[in-house]
Amino acid sequence: MDIVEFLNARLDEGEAAAQAVIDAGGRSGWEAVPIAELDGRRALTGGSSIFAVMDPVPEGRACAEHAARHDPARVLREVAAKRKMLELHANGCPGINYCVSCWNGNESLDWPCPTVRTLASAHADHPDYAPEWAPRT
Ligand SMILES: [Zn+2]
Repeated sequence: MDIVEFLNARLDEGEAAAQAVIDAGGRSGWEAVPIAELDGRRALTGGSSIFAVMDPVPEGRACAEHAARHDPARVLREVAAKRKMLELHANGCPGINYCVSCWNGNESLDWPCPTVRTLASAHADHPDYAPEWAPRT
C-alpha cells in the first residue's frame, strides 16, 4: 500500500461512516445543547433527534462540543476537500518522483511531498501507516 492508497482508504472510511448516519436518517445541524432540566447535561442533537446526553462534568461538555463538530454533512465536505488536496498533490507523472504542485526547482524535494505527508500524519496511529511517511522536520 502506498501513501495515496493509504489516504484514500482513510477518506473512504470517514466518508462511509458519515454517509451511514445520513442513510440512517440522521439530520444535519448537529449541536451540543445544554439541557437545564437535567442538571446542566449537554445533549448531542441533530434536528429534533437527541443522539447522546453527556454528564455535566467538563469532560462531558467537551465531548458534546467535540462530537457536534462531526456533523456528517460537514465531515463529507471535509472528505471532499481532502480528496481534492490529495488530487492536487498526487499529480506526478510516471517516472517523475516529486509533486508537481510543491516542486520549486529543488531536486531534494522528493515524493511524498510535505502536503501529502502532513495529510497522512493525522492517521499515524493506524496500523497501516508507514513511519517513513512522517513529515520531515
Ligand atoms: Zn505537493
